[in-house]
Amino acid sequence: MEDISRIMQENVDAVLIVDASINKYRAINRRGIFEKLISEEGEYRDLIEKLWIHLSDTNERISKDYGVFMSYYGNFKGKYSRRLKVKLDGNEQPYVIQMTVYPLSEPDKYIFAMDELDDDEYIQEFMTTRKVTTIQNTYLFSMYVDLVRDTTSSISITEISEDTVNASIKYSEWRMMIVNMIWPEEQEQFLRRTDPEYLKKNFSPGRTSSFDCQMQNLEGKYIWVKLIFSRANTQNDDDFRFVFMVQDINENSIELLSTLKKYEELALTDPLTRLYNHGGIETEMYNAIDNLRKDGVPVSFMMLDMDHFKNVNDSFGHSVGDVTLKKFAEILTDYMAGEKSFVGRWGGEEFVIICYGKSGDEAFNFAENLRKKVEETEFPEIKHITCSIGITDLTAEDTFDEAFNRMDKAMYASKESGRNIVSRL
Ligand code: GH3
Ligand code: MG
Ligand code: MG
Repeated sequence: MEDISRIMQENVDAVLIVDASINKYRAINRRGIFEKLISEEGEYRDLIEKLWIHLSDTNERISKDYGVFMSYYGNFKGKYSRRLKVKLDGNEQPYVIQMTVYPLSEPDKYIFAMDELDDDEYIQEFMTTRKVTTIQNTYLFSMYVDLVRDTTSSISITEISEDTVNASIKYSEWRMMIVNMIWPEEQEQFLRRTDPEYLKKNFSPGRTSSFDCQMQNLEGKYIWVKLIFSRANTQNDDDFRFVFMVQDINENSIELLSTLKKYEELALTDPLTRLYNHGGIETEMYNAIDNLRKDGVPVSFMMLDMDHFKNVNDSFGHSVGDVTLKKFAEILTDYMAGEKSFVGRWGGEEFVIICYGKSGDEAFNFAENLRKKVEETEFPEIKHITCSIGITDLTAEDTFDEAFNRMDKAMYASKESGRNIVSRL
């Protein structure tokens, strides 16, 4: 026995005594990497976090909200053994450790025996299989739920640890633990759709359903996930067992959202001038009417029609016409920069500007200066062109048609008075 005990002391790299009830451990001996990894004495929770949780993979601490799961790791009812890798001091290459836990007869007291494994070939193989399982494992989170008994089991948080959580958490408590990790605006939906009564009412046996939302990952960053509930296929109407899974769909969702954004932009943009198109500027005109009623900030509509534009096409050709339209759009955009405003192409050589924060003479003078600016600008090929402008202030009683017709009539008044003029109605 003495020999065995001496051999053990000389060969086991680290032996710890743990008292989980007071959250403490003490090292009996520690050698090699364990001198760095483990202190003489310390908090048991820190040790568990270092050995079990995420930290062992990345050296980064997990986000605070995931901390609620910590107390569920590190509880042992019998002998337990596993291999794990740990990173130290930001080293790229992790160490592989074999550890065994022996519960003592007193509750919450354990002996931890740990050894560093140093067989290179084995370490490579261990790392490769770990990588493969990580890639295959798109489910961040999964567990079994029994709504009638209000229990959960086999909780697995793949990002935190390969181990399933060693304790059963009440389903009703689990919901409240996890709700903080959901994007604030989606918490209400999360609580509604994970509500036991909701699940009982909406899931016939065998039915699977899901919804997408944003949830914090371990680093505390929000990612897109799919929350999946699937009810066991049972003949018993009173059997409400479910599988719950969280799937990481972040990459696909980001791609989808950016595609949607592109389509949305395309749907509102005039391809030649890159201004708002007819539909886009029309929507903003309706919004302007709503805004005025809500906050009373003055807003005016301007229509600009280029003078004798047909001549440009006739004399210089259609493509010079296009270049002229583009240049005209640039002048408008530059002029409105710094103003709260929207510039759109209503059609052909007609443009609409919505300008916030100006009314009466101020708005009129603003339009007059724009007219001059166009008149003075040198265009490619054609050199000079002018435009006729109609402007009107919106009133809180205006309908879209009333405001539009005043602006339109004002513009025609400018044409009738000889063009290159601003008129107000
Ligand atoms: P007015 O001063 O009365 O407004 O005369 P105008 O020639 O500008 O008006 P009219 O409505 O007779 O002609 C507009 C011209 O604009 C006719 C059309 O060929 C041209 N046009 C409309 N859209 C485009 C376009 O996208 N590219 C080119 N190059 N020309 C366009
Ligand atoms: Mg016209
Ligand atoms: Mg015209």
